[in-house]
Amino acid sequence: MATNGELPIEPHKTFDTILVLDFGSQYSHLITRRMRELNVYCEMLPCTQNLAELSWKPKGIILSGGPYSVYWDDAPHVDPAVFELDVPILGICYGLQEIAWHFGKNVLAGEKREYGHAFLKVERHEGGSGSGHVDKLFQGLEDDMEVWMSHGDKLSNLPPSFVTIATTTNAPFAGMAHQEKPYYGIQFHPEVTHTPRGKHLLKNFAVEICKAKQDWTMGKFVDQEIARIKALVGEKGQVIGAVSGGVDSTVAAKLMQEAIGDRFHAVLVDNGVLRLNEAAQVKETLTEHLGINLTVVDASERFLGLLKGVTDDPEKKRKIIGNTFIEVFQEEAKKIAAAAAGSSKAGEIEWLLQGTLYPDVIESISFKGPSATIKTHHNVGGLLAGMHLKLIEPLRELFKDEVRELGTNLGIPEELVWRHPFPGPGIAIRILGEVTPEQVRIAREADHIFIEEIRAAGLYRKISQAFAALLPVKAVGVMGDKRVHNQVIALRAVETSDFMTADWYPFDGQFLKKVSRRIVNEVDGVCRVVYDITSKPPGTIEME
Ligand code: GLN
Repeated sequence: MATNGELPIEPHKTFDTILVLDFGSQYSHLITRRMRELNVYCEMLPCTQNLAELSWKPKGIILSGGPYSVYWDDAPHVDPAVFELDVPILGICYGLQEIAWHFGKNVLAGEKREYGHAFLKVERHEGGSGSGHVDKLFQGLEDDMEVWMSHGDKLSNLPPSFVTIATTTNAPFAGMAHQEKPYYGIQFHPEVTHTPRGKHLLKNFAVEICKAKQDWTMGKFVDQEIARIKALVGEKGQVIGAVSGGVDSTVAAKLMQEAIGDRFHAVLVDNGVLRLNEAAQVKETLTEHLGINLTVVDASERFLGLLKGVTDDPEKKRKIIGNTFIEVFQEEAKKIAAAAAGSSKAGEIEWLLQGTLYPDVIESISFKGPSATIKTHHNVGGLLAGMHLKLIEPLRELFKDEVRELGTNLGIPEELVWRHPFPGPGIAIRILGEVTPEQVRIAREADHIFIEEIRAAGLYRKISQAFAALLPVKAVGVMGDKRVHNQVIALRAVETSDFMTADWYPFDGQFLKKVSRRIVNEVDGVCRVVYDITSKPPGTIEME
């Protein structure tokens, strides 16, 4: 049975932590992001979290927005113990309404929805009655602020003991504060960039009101994480993990190497559908530059053998590659384990490294409504099922750009740190139709030229993902005065901030001309190049 390792050192026990209780708003994770940008450590849990089960105490709690109405019978509510914990609370949108509901049951549907920009007027109380904390949320901010709203419900009146600290024409209770306790509610969303001064407000809450230290830095994280891995794995423990040449698995592997040296075994499975020269390049970077103990398994023939004859079922391709990957990895793990068992200085392999990031963690724990079921990580199930290993996930508290910062800190080459994402099934899903060694050659060579030109034009970092795909059709061309009947390459390049939606990149004509000319001249078997001008949605980023 797979178990998650008991972590001896946890960030929320060493850093002052703000806890976000999530009611399912699409912006909840942004609150966490903003806090971390302020160097305040922040974690998110579902709004239904039972506080008695928490083994640590947050410095403050933020109740997020959410799609429900607090007055519905099946609306989600926080554990009332939140109000007994004696820590500051900030409610955002639904969170404000939740506080109002807790204290006064005074929320109802508004006459009109308010969505978009609004002008906020701050009301100061000069110390308020009592502790003088009510003005702190808007401390240092202008009296008139631009804010962003997204709500349909409203407070009918203030709950007892609260005062108004901000208004808009449509929302007379756009901000409220409790007169004795450090409880605040705001109807607008400070976490979105459309509220220009939102970050300052969040800083007021975390730093001025909760007194959280701004000590969440990458350097400290690295020291902590290395200490944690050492304590977890012990003097002799061994860890195995797959690497792909992508930023997440490389950063995770480098961290393991720093913590336990050669007792971490990295495995790169060459599935025959990696990018051009990729296996060799990854090997060089990981072993020579980063000192990681790496085994490369060349299983390309096995993969390509199994892919033979699969013509028009992308899901089948994905399954074959996924399952074969698990088989190959497990076989290799057995060999490494047998070799380790023979060595006197090493123990058994007990751990599996996984490069899970915080968005995956959020995805599996975030609140999806009263009937929500908790999702398990899609990419680890298969590996863990057949192996008696415990999971170690050193990046599970980090966002992607934090991982990049960490990678840079650990001395991983810039080129790798900023690499475009690459799908697990590799270029097999960029070759539409049957994957044969010849098709792999064509797709790889075309892709290599495209990426080379993108880099040369200084566009690589601007574009989020780019690749060449091979279409399953032939077109007529004329090359060297001879009629040819050859294949078609489709180029795809997109810009996106979150990969949920994406737009195609508007290259200039000269650039496309050059790429097209190079591909038809240099890649045997191609006589035409087209550019994919489909956004996501309706397209996906990959072709299959
Ligand atoms: N559903 C609530 C409303 O419409 C809260 C919305 C929100 O949190 N964004 O007012």
